[in-house]
Amino acid sequence: MTPAEPQPIRKILVVGGGTAGWITAGVLASRYQKRGEEGVSITLIESRQQPPIGVGEGTWPTLRATLKQIGVTETDFLRACDASFKQGSQFVKWANGGDSDAYYHPFTLPVGYEERNLAAYWLENPQDRSFADSMCFQTSVCRQGLAPKQITTPEFTGLANYAYHLDAGKFGPFLRDHCIDKLGVRHIYDEIVGIESTETGDISQVVTKSGEALAADLYVDCSGFSALLIGKHFGVPFLSKKDVLFIDKAWAVQVPYPADDAAINSVTVATAQSSGWVWDIGLTTRRGVGYVFSSGYVSDEGALEELKNYLGARGDLSPNLSFRKIDINSGYRSEFWTRNCVAVGLSAGFIEPLEASAIVMIELSAKSIANLLPSCRGGMRQAARIFNDTFRYRWERIVDFLKLHYVLSGRTDSRFWVDNRARESIPDSLRDGLEYWRDHCPWHEDFAHREEVFSAASYQYILYGMGFKTYPAPWLLNDSDRNLAREKMNEAGHYTRALMTTLPANRELLSKVRKYGLQKI
Ligand SMILES: Cc1cc2nc3c(=O)[nH]c(=O)nc-3n(C[C@H](O)[C@H](O)[C@H](O)COP(=O)(O)OP(=O)(O)OC[C@H]3O[C@@H](n4cnc5c(N)ncnc54)[C@H](O)[C@@H]3O)c2cc1C
Repeated sequence: MTPAEPQPIRKILVVGGGTAGWITAGVLASRYQKRGEEGVSITLIESRQQPPIGVGEGTWPTLRATLKQIGVTETDFLRACDASFKQGSQFVKWANGGDSDAYYHPFTLPVGYEERNLAAYWLENPQDRSFADSMCFQTSVCRQGLAPKQITTPEFTGLANYAYHLDAGKFGPFLRDHCIDKLGVRHIYDEIVGIESTETGDISQVVTKSGEALAADLYVDCSGFSALLIGKHFGVPFLSKKDVLFIDKAWAVQVPYPADDAAINSVTVATAQSSGWVWDIGLTTRRGVGYVFSSGYVSDEGALEELKNYLGARGDLSPNLSFRKIDINSGYRSEFWTRNCVAVGLSAGFIEPLEASAIVMIELSAKSIANLLPSCRGGMRQAARIFNDTFRYRWERIVDFLKLHYVLSGRTDSRFWVDNRARESIPDSLRDGLEYWRDHCPWHEDFAHREEVFSAASYQYILYGMGFKTYPAPWLLNDSDRNLAREKMNEAGHYTRALMTTLPANRELLSKVRKYGLQKI
């Protein structure tokens, strides 16, 4: 038998010009830089009639490396996207709903984390301080509304770990201009109205409203909730997670600052409500606020009323505000890469914005596609298998981690919170984890992969932030652990004091960036 003629993969078509489309195009184009006859051609098509979703403002520290790889400067990004610095999340009223109920999930790792698991030391000596306050200097930085760096700190580096809050409506166009001008990505405004297949079932070409036929070797479906290729064309099943995570709707609103110099929060504030939670994100020009809720527990009108109450209590309610309703289909595809098509972004799945895990999944997907890309069609089946196994695992872990926030709540004031603790709504993997963590502080080995989306550090911050009790076991702590913990906590204390006098306020630094720019690397 003669082997089949190799079919090189030289043309990639990205369908969709939202955050997913442009990040994917940027990552692929910066990784494979030769165009034309010599290299890979990358085309992105988007429809003017279907604008990007326009929400998705919270990100992860991974975005720094992604932007650097794509080749934009941090200064240009911050200016163009009205972006601010994000240093983690603050969860308000999640544990018991009381007035003092608030804790941080900072981006900086707990002290000593690179060397040993010192959470048991905090269990032994909590000294009336929360886990995050004891084990991480960053909570003080967040509380004071300080930036994670100074104007002289080089681009993409910080004195504390950080990500960004960004204007989703400006991020896509910012990446678009860079991808077209600097990376040679071809861009088309048109709408795909037909999809044609080869005899084997691969996509052979897509046909647009203006009559153009676009053929590619690999199609990346970034068409958002419409899931044009992965869902409508291939019919890949969608696995709903609504029985675990109940959020299925959102009200979103953009809130102006009362003054040009108003403080900018450097964390996403997530405040629990009767049937979900409100996100509050500070950009340089406005705040992005929204209530994600479960329609099984509150009506659209009831949810809007709650969101208005949230704004009213902060003096932010005005008749000029425009509220937008968004439906959320919570879940993900049973596979993401099928034949010569791979889905990235909302077309692949979305759960809810808690812990902002969607954009990081886009970054991870784009990098995986770039890393796995075979030279010829023959290698695609195996690339798809690896991709699907990896991302199925990642989605499952995200579901567990988000559910953790609800399961640990002691709130009894509404059915939403009570039902979230119902045994049948908790995945077995999470139940097993919780049982284990009663007798053991979370650590790397508790998870199957070293590169987890949510690390053991994140589990420690949420578990202990929510008041979870691990049984203290002094007999398992060595004196060297105790000494290391004391030494590291001491160092963190010194570092905090130094930062308090040297770090500018978030707003102050962002204004300086607008004026002078950050130091180039
Ligand atoms: C309420 C809410 C809050 C969120 N908050 C966060 C957050 O804080 N952090 C986070 O990481 N994520 C968040 N997300 C998720 C985030 O918004 C998305 O993951 C991100 O914007 C990526 O969207 P997308 O590019 O996949 O889809 P979209 O932005 O919807 O883009 C789809 C694109 O496909 C194109 N398209 C569709 N059909 C066709 C066609 N037939 N022909 C041509 N083009 C077509 C459209 O023109 C558009 O350009 C949130 C989501 C919601 C719903």
